Amino acid sequence: MLKGKTALVTGSTSGIGLGIARALAAEGANIVLNGFGDASHIAAIERELRERGVQTLYHGADMSKPREIEDMMRAAESAFGRIDVLVNNAGIQHVASIEDFPVERWDAVIAINLSSAFHTIRLALPKMKAANWGRIINIASVHGLVASAQKSAYVAAKHGIVGLTKVVALETAQTGITCNAICPGWVLTPLVQKQIDDRAARDRLSNDEARRALLGEKQPSLQFVTPEQLGALAVFLCSDAAAQVRGAAWNVDGGWYAQ
Ligand code: NAD
Repeated sequence: MLKGKTALVTGSTSGIGLGIARALAAEGANIVLNGFGDASHIAAIERELRERGVQTLYHGADMSKPREIEDMMRAAESAFGRIDVLVNNAGIQHVASIEDFPVERWDAVIAINLSSAFHTIRLALPKMKAANWGRIINIASVHGLVASAQKSAYVAAKHGIVGLTKVVALETAQTGITCNAICPGWVLTPLVQKQIDDRAARDRLSNDEARRALLGEKQPSLQFVTPEQLGALAVFLCSDAAAQVRGAAWNVDGGWYAQ
């Protein structure tokens, strides 16, 4: 379905971004990878994706730095002509009550989880508009729809990216470009494992007990969402069937938001 198209997935060296990159590559898209990780890990991901017959490019832009984002977008365009599918996924978490929240962590969460998407979108849109086709998928969170205590920066950034998604959807409504957000509940990735580890240490629980407690608090299905499920939704949003899905914030959260 995406043969000959190019997808840039920020934060695709791990977790959800990697799951989405794999799903888009399986549909034939060339992949621009981004994110941190050691060179051998990234080379292994590139090898794996290329086995699907697609081309890859890795750019290590730090998504908190607009100049590095600009450099990544230039590199992607000079390698592949344009970005057809843009997945804004890179993200970090910091958990603390608001009066203890380190100012530097607030700035980093807002920069990486929200402002980076403003930069990639503003830079990708001109060529998408010229081609009259594009798919912009922002990986928000159920925390883009509801809040949890101790997550002020994350919840603010994720509500922000849901708002940004709607504005971009309106500004592109009469084009072949769509912009939507995916709002996952708990997905078992390094970002969440850290929260499980912190809970296990705080409440003196085993890893399994801490996982069950984390799910039981918010996610009625008591099961993690998987990167593969999110990859499949991203593929659907790229399809012609989704051409009139615009400005949606689609929760995939085991029932979290239904409560
Ligand atoms: P992860 O930690 O497994 O992956 C994060 C990715 O972002 C990695 O590739 C990392 O290298 C990259 N990254 C981090 N900081 C970066 C920076 N400054 N510049 C470039 N890349 C950077 O996390 P994940 O759980 O896969 O999270 C991916 C996205 O999904 C995030 O936006 C997160 O908020 C969102 N999300 C996650 C969950 C969950 O339960 N795991 C739920 C809802 C939303």
